[in-house]
Amino acid sequence: MTSFDIPEALVRAEIDEAALRDNAAALASQLAPARLKCVVKANAYGHGVDIVAPALFAAGRREFCVATIPEALELRSLLGPEAEILAWLYGPTTDLDEAVRAGIELGVSTVASLDRLAAAAQRTGTTARLHLKIDTGLGRNGLAPDALVRAFEWLRRAAEDGCPDIRVVGIMSHFAVADEPERPETAAQSAVFSSAHGQLRAVLDAADGRLGDSEALDVHIANSPGALTLGPCPGTSARVGLALYGLSPLEGTDSEALGLRPALRLLSTVINLKDIPAGHGASYGLTFTAATDTRFALVPGGYGDGLPRAASNRAEVAIRGRRYPVVGRIAMDQMIIDIGAGNEDVAIGDEVVIFGPGGPSAAEWGIWADTINYEIVTQLSARVHRCVRNDGTDVTEGGGR
Ligand SMILES: *Cc1c(COP(=O)(O)O)cnc(C)c1O
Repeated sequence: MTSFDIPEALVRAEIDEAALRDNAAALASQLAPARLKCVVKANAYGHGVDIVAPALFAAGRREFCVATIPEALELRSLLGPEAEILAWLYGPTTDLDEAVRAGIELGVSTVASLDRLAAAAQRTGTTARLHLKIDTGLGRNGLAPDALVRAFEWLRRAAEDGCPDIRVVGIMSHFAVADEPERPETAAQSAVFSSAHGQLRAVLDAADGRLGDSEALDVHIANSPGALTLGPCPGTSARVGLALYGLSPLEGTDSEALGLRPALRLLSTVINLKDIPAGHGASYGLTFTAATDTRFALVPGGYGDGLPRAASNRAEVAIRGRRYPVVGRIAMDQMIIDIGAGNEDVAIGDEVVIFGPGGPSAAEWGIWADTINYEIVTQLSARVHRCVRNDGTDVTEGGGR
């Protein structure tokens, strides 16, 4: 086997750990007395879970959420036994033993999952810790009212049978429209949730604490928009993803207005410059034609890095603090920037801020691509090199994804 020193990647995501820490601290104090759960699913929203999760853990955060069991197990190996890790998305045949053995808490959205969790607990000789997930109106995962009745019956029966391997440690739900504070559905969801919480407490109390302590239940329904728009935060904790990364989930409200700092800057480099005569086209399909003589800058970065091709001929990037348009189609690996005829301000080797502080926001890229900032950051591909920026100067190597 030969090993190579991989040269610096052309497209890199610089992660500002101080921004992550500060965002978490700001959110935690805003939520108090409810606690902050840090959502680091989907490779920490594209930021690199191997950078983000240890940074938050080092800053004292102990509660983490992911969607899937593979994500949860990876997180367990990154953070060790002291992190509290919750996962809620798995299928009817997903192996639960490993998760239970690793002390992963699981959201339960079907009655069948209760059977499977009890079996996994028994096989592994471990107590399974679960959060009942209630569908309060989103229509996605979670126990609908009829399934909730059956889940309560299941728990009552388990208590009678003396099932010692299951602990209900939480109850959770998820908002559908918390980013639109004027809509009435959020309060309606909260009411359904409160009622389910009351019923669960009664079930646990009737079981004399054998299935869990009704007083100690972790009660959580708020996501980023819920955490930012509802005061006080409903429940004992909130599962916050996007806002942790310093991005706004609220249309028309930017990060700064929320007291948050984007933690990711997506950077590239000008690698070629050329003078272009009027009438010359740009990129596949020649969807752009130069109206006048101009100068093109070539910038690595395309849909192979996760940039949306839909933003072709709409997006902008920043070079030396100035915005320039992306012209023509964004290709798999590169894009063309129109910097204007005779522009001597831009040189080969210049840093390009594709998005993040000093350039356009992920939200702007979302608008240009008819999507949202969530998708813009989460789509960043494995080819983008994630590195850590600590105090504005110190860039160290991060993980490889
Ligand atoms: C992704 C997710 C969250 C986090 O949502 P944000 O809007 O990013 O804060 C919380 N809960 C569940 C169930 C999720 O799927």
